[in-house]
Amino acid sequence: MLYPLSYRGAAQSLPTGFRAGIISPLMAEIEIASTMPAFQSQLPYVPERIGAAAVYCSDGRVGEHFDDFLHAGLGLPRYDRIALPGGPACLAGHVKARLNEQAVVEELRFLVGAHGVNRIVLIAHHGCAFYAERLHLEVERMEAAQKADLAKAARFIYRATGLAAIESYFARPGDGHIAFEPVEAGPLKPF
Ligand SMILES: [Zn+2]
Repeated sequence: MLYPLSYRGAAQSLPTGFRAGIISPLMAEIEIASTMPAFQSQLPYVPERIGAAAVYCSDGRVGEHFDDFLHAGLGLPRYDRIALPGGPACLAGHVKARLNEQAVVEELRFLVGAHGVNRIVLIAHHGCAFYAERLHLEVERMEAAQKADLAKAARFIYRATGLAAIESYFARPGDGHIAFEPVEAGPLKPF
């Protein structure tokens, strides 16, 4: 018998076998997974790495635009992605992003070492909820703060990884599309 995943954690609504530990939720998940038809992506798989990574906001409204920019605009198919709320903002020294800061730095170091990443693209986007909700910035002040954060993040990554090929962009909506404007991050120097 199959039970939907929504039964997980709802002990009282599980049948006797679950409550008695005879049938574990994990076993049910395995059974469910094994009976689902496998979806086969029709996209071609190319195993070679491109040697580039991008750090950007996880906002789903702009994810495909980021992909399009990296693929078609910068010519970087198969780039490695680090997507989280605010994107590069987590590397700009904000106290409210401290938890993510170390994790992202570790991931970037891993990508440089294990995936051969030698180019990193940072993208901030207009109206980012991280700046509005976490940092409580008004829209008028947001863009300047985001651009300053891109520069800080680039310097932080340079210090953490030794990689100097870091470029920054600001994604701006208009006319139903999104334009990606380069942002000058300034010189990359150690402390
Ligand atoms: Zn955002």
